[in-house]
Amino acid sequence: MSRVKENLIELGSLGRKDGARVESYEQLDTDKGLWRLEGNELSKASKDYLVETMEEAGLEIRFDRAGNIFGRKEGTDPGRKAVMSGSHLDSVKNGGQFDGPLGVIGALEAVRVINEEGFEHSRPIEVAVFVGEEGSAFERGLIGSEVLTGAISYDEVLNLANSDGELLKNVLGDYRGEFLMDLGGVEYFVELHPEQGPVLDTEGIPVGIVESITGLYWLRVVIEGEENHAGTTPMKMRKDALVKAAEIVSFVHEKALDMAEKTNGSFVATVGRLEVHPSATNIIPGRVELGIDIRDVNQGNIDVFKAAVTDKVAEVSRVPGMKAKAQVLVDKPPCLCSGEVIEAIERAVRELGLEARKMSSGAAHDAQNLAGKVKTAMIFVQSANGISHSPREWTSWEDVETGVNVLTRVIKDLSG
Ligand SMILES: [Zn+2]
Repeated sequence: MSRVKENLIELGSLGRKDGARVESYEQLDTDKGLWRLEGNELSKASKDYLVETMEEAGLEIRFDRAGNIFGRKEGTDPGRKAVMSGSHLDSVKNGGQFDGPLGVIGALEAVRVINEEGFEHSRPIEVAVFVGEEGSAFERGLIGSEVLTGAISYDEVLNLANSDGELLKNVLGDYRGEFLMDLGGVEYFVELHPEQGPVLDTEGIPVGIVESITGLYWLRVVIEGEENHAGTTPMKMRKDALVKAAEIVSFVHEKALDMAEKTNGSFVATVGRLEVHPSATNIIPGRVELGIDIRDVNQGNIDVFKAAVTDKVAEVSRVPGMKAKAQVLVDKPPCLCSGEVIEAIERAVRELGLEARKMSSGAAHDAQNLAGKVKTAMIFVQSANGISHSPREWTSWEDVETGVNVLTRVIKDLSG
């Protein structure tokens, strides 16, 4: 078994409550996905294994103040800025074993290959493991890269609470240090990741070269009507918050369909969360909360959509006896990847004789935060059946190898 495969299977087992080692798609069990939420016990065991494996590769390990992990291999010219590559270790609830670890182990493998070949590189290489990417334990995601780019302060990040009310600084414990990574010393960032969508798998193309990463906008909408008896309140006298929420759900879907058709096809919007109070069959719902997720690679489209949803919410609040308000939870602009890094990926793909296509990422990644500070791009490999954030997430070992080979060439190219 290759080292990469062994590392990914072992990390997968450390992220599962039953410790099962999953070597093939057929062994996947939908009840037994990864539960490696940032800071939990499985996350700690995984970090121990990863750090040990990084040290075996001769990397100099530093934990930063927020719990990001960096492994450095010096180049022949320490004055040059580094090539950084990596991803995250944390998972969603009941997730898969490739989302995140593929990019971390891929970068580590590039270093191991470079060591074995005695390849001389002038730039230092930094393997990065970003803390809390998924937002599955804490109230927001991508926090490791946000703190690096200054979008959030260290104090703010360390005092974020998880759903059990525990603060990040406490759950990280020994898994954070005093080191501060200065992105001023980094020239390039490249991240290998499963596509998390169906495009590559459907088209039978092994490699995706990411040109842009979607913007992400989250709205929390609260509608208040009047809770009352479902039997005694005549239909005309009701202030039913769920009926109004249903109108917003339909509006979001129809408007998004229309936007996707009229623009570039990458526009998506989803109402993925609905909380109905008091949620009883015989009570008219008095209060409903909705979570709306809006994404596109074009900021103009996001702005148009945001305005339309805000108008719709305002319309609800004009109904006598009803109140509605919208609150912005996440507002991340789309980002364009670096032409220089994209060209390096294209060269690698050509040299390896692989087929590739350019594409945009509909999922958020730490790369989009870094893109504002360093030259950044991403390499995608196939997600089997386009499935992600699910225990049925899978990438074939052949695709894993392809992705790691491309990444290794890119790191050699950019650091050489
Ligand atoms: Zn990921």
